[in-house]
Amino acid sequence: MRVTIFGTRTYDRQFLTAANAAHGHDLSFLETGLDSATASLAAGSEAVCAFVNDSLDADVMEKLAGLGTRIVALRCAGYNNVDLDAAARFGIAITRVPAYSPHAVAEFTIGLLLALDRKIHRAWSRVRENNYSLDGLVGRNLHGRVMGVVGTGQIGALVARTLRAGFGCDVLASDPFPDPELERLGVRYVEVDTLLREVDVVSLHCPLTPGTRHMINAATLAEARQGLVVINTSRGALIDTKALIDALKTRSVGGVALDVYEQEAGIFFDDLSNEIIDDDLLQRLLTFPNVLVTGHQAFLTEEALGAIAETTLNSLSDFEKGLPLAHEVVAAARAGA
Ligand code: NAD
Repeated sequence: MRVTIFGTRTYDRQFLTAANAAHGHDLSFLETGLDSATASLAAGSEAVCAFVNDSLDADVMEKLAGLGTRIVALRCAGYNNVDLDAAARFGIAITRVPAYSPHAVAEFTIGLLLALDRKIHRAWSRVRENNYSLDGLVGRNLHGRVMGVVGTGQIGALVARTLRAGFGCDVLASDPFPDPELERLGVRYVEVDTLLREVDVVSLHCPLTPGTRHMINAATLAEARQGLVVINTSRGALIDTKALIDALKTRSVGGVALDVYEQEAGIFFDDLSNEIIDDDLLQRLLTFPNVLVTGHQAFLTEEALGAIAETTLNSLSDFEKGLPLAHEVVAAARAGA
């Protein structure tokens, strides 16, 4: 099958090309992202492959269907950027990669927390200038602190287990489907409002849905513990960024580590070092000494990229052979990762 792959970078090409040896699809790699203006580049492709910040709204679906596209394979877990009703209306199947490596994201989350809390990123830049002063680098132990994990699916469960069993933290969790194994380890499930009031650190691992959008907002931050640390490696729009900045300015939030950002589309995954960036919220965030931002990197391990490529191409091959699609996303499905 001819497959137009949008938004690709060197690492996507490398891993998809290697995995394609077993499939023999005709892969066409594009750097540009997918939206209404670029959809026409998929002309002649029965299949399209897209990523987290590509736009798959009704207009794009209609254009793709008109060009003969019959399947869109998302090479990510989340599908909050897809209009599933429109996909069904235009007869386009949607597949995703539900689990490529929860360890990749969970480990990165713990890394971000440690870097932020122990100021490792700041120490690194000091030492490179032969500044070995420790002033301003005082951190806090994780051991004994109250950690909150919102969403204990594949990634959140690993984070909760590591914090509880590895670091000896007191862990509160919130999820409509509590994990009995975590409960056996001593993780306590509470409502999300209670969690946000009681924890020192909150790490977000639930999907972005209309119900979870801006779950961290001015009202929840006003109720939170003084000095709350916020970690988000899930989806940017779980946080109202403006409210978060206000809380950093009043010092009620004590630290923030973000791998995702509400308005990341069009910024993340690109080298903009020679550009003027118009996004004032992101630029303001970067000025705080207690904020650490990475560019949607948590998934980026060799293991995860290999698994993403393999699952994506398996879905395309199954579609071509008329086999059932193990990782199809349909409109009625519970909104997921
Ligand atoms: P998952 O589906 O396994 O787990 C999500 C959990 O959230 C589920 O247990 C679900 O019951 C729970 N949940 C749903 N609504 C909730 C709510 N309102 N409050 C609390 N919990 C709720 O998903 P996952 O694979 O663990 O992925 C988690 C998130 O990480 C997803 O949003 C995904 O988009 C994101 N992600 C980010 C990266 C990255 O590179 N930064 C990579 C992969 C996934």
